[in-house]
Amino acid sequence: MLRKSKRLWGDQAALKSSYDAVIIGGGLHGLAAAYFLARDHGIKNVAVIEKRFLGFGGSGRNTAIVRANQRTQQNVPLYKEALELWPILTKELDYNLMFFNCGNLNLMHSEAAMNTARMNVATAQFHGVESHLIDAKQCKELVPALNISKDITYPIFGAMYHPPGGILRHDAIVWGLAKGAAKHGVHLHQQTEVTGIGVENGKIVSVETDKGRIKTPRVLNAAGGYSAALSYQMLGIKLPISVLTIQAMVTQPLKPILDHVVSSGTYHAYANQTLKGEIATGAHMDAWPNYTTQTTAYYIKHQAEALSEMLPCLRGVKFMRHWGGLADMTPDMAPIMDGNNLIEGYYMDCGWGYFGFKSCAATGKYMAQFISSGNCPEMLKPFNLSRFEQNRLMGETAALVNYTPDN
Ligand SMILES: Cc1cc2nc3c(=O)[nH]c(=O)nc-3n(C[C@H](O)[C@H](O)[C@H](O)COP(=O)(O)OP(=O)(O)OC[C@H]3O[C@@H](n4cnc5c(N)ncnc54)[C@H](O)[C@@H]3O)c2cc1C
Repeated sequence: MLRKSKRLWGDQAALKSSYDAVIIGGGLHGLAAAYFLARDHGIKNVAVIEKRFLGFGGSGRNTAIVRANQRTQQNVPLYKEALELWPILTKELDYNLMFFNCGNLNLMHSEAAMNTARMNVATAQFHGVESHLIDAKQCKELVPALNISKDITYPIFGAMYHPPGGILRHDAIVWGLAKGAAKHGVHLHQQTEVTGIGVENGKIVSVETDKGRIKTPRVLNAAGGYSAALSYQMLGIKLPISVLTIQAMVTQPLKPILDHVVSSGTYHAYANQTLKGEIATGAHMDAWPNYTTQTTAYYIKHQAEALSEMLPCLRGVKFMRHWGGLADMTPDMAPIMDGNNLIEGYYMDCGWGYFGFKSCAATGKYMAQFISSGNCPEMLKPFNLSRFEQNRLMGETAALVNYTPDN
């Protein structure tokens, strides 16, 4: 008899007519919430509904950078916990997530940027996150390929050095969480699109899909770049999210030359070397809202110019692949995690922009706690939607504009 190859997360189950929770989006945030719901809270009758395939969105397109040196008091603890979860999840999921904590260098190109970085380092250290301010010479010691001459457009003054950060294989996390969720009984429905959400008397009662109706008392919107459109079109809830395309690319594989993630907000470029040897590099996002995920020649030129100055040994190296993905950006560059208030049983985990890869493990854990109890955990309270009405925006924009990269 011929041996049938098995999917990591088993065969797709038939869509049931009722689930205890329906999660919209088979990206990292949806999968992580499903995994922790089933594993820790006994809610196993859960469906993850994905219109294309698992990891189709930003989860399968990011440049895999993880770190915990965010800007604000509210954000650092969440990212710290996420960073600490990777080795634990690798064991629990029995799946190699290829965590390489090679450390991140966020380059600074002026004295003013160094002063701002000083505040960032202090915030990180206050929360027990290892982070140092280093000068240009120390940068060069860590990354010999770096150009610290004064003879470039934006000379390097120093960096914020964050040793526990690094990279993980993004597909591995999607597959590992899918495997873990399925093992605990979660149904993963790919090629199934949510087309409507049913509400009666202020409560969630059902989800419409192109494969049929599902009765459910709980829905999580984890639809990434599509979350705001979905929320408005299906429930009339407006979210302050703009959708833009972010581009990234990889070069031909090279011998090891880059042991750290190097990034520069001023050059709008970052680079790290994958385990395959490619230099993965990304840039700033398109300046206009769009859902295209199209790549542009402009960014090829931009990346080539920026990398040639920062890491001159890369001059002449060929780009092999170039892609785009959607970023769901809020005005303060912090996510929206909220629920069970505007409509009973409706939860949101969206607006992740550049940061949704590095956070997903911790977010999944806390969103599962939120969805199972109906009460928002302390860790997530600062991320509520009402902060935009109450002018309590967080300062994560500062983390990006002044000196951090696109990730
Ligand atoms: C080029 C690029 C580089 C990046 N680099 C980094 C990085 O280095 N570090 C970092 O932390 N973050 C990075 N990010 C951001 C990160 O990838 C995202 O924030 C993260 O993947 C968001 O995950 P998610 O699960 O919320 O959404 P997604 O992964 O986008 O998943 C949402 C899913 O919902 C599905 N969906 C939408 N509508 C429906 C519907 N109606 N019915 C059913 N399914 C639906 C979509 O098909 C999609 O698969 C990057 C993003 C890009 C594009």
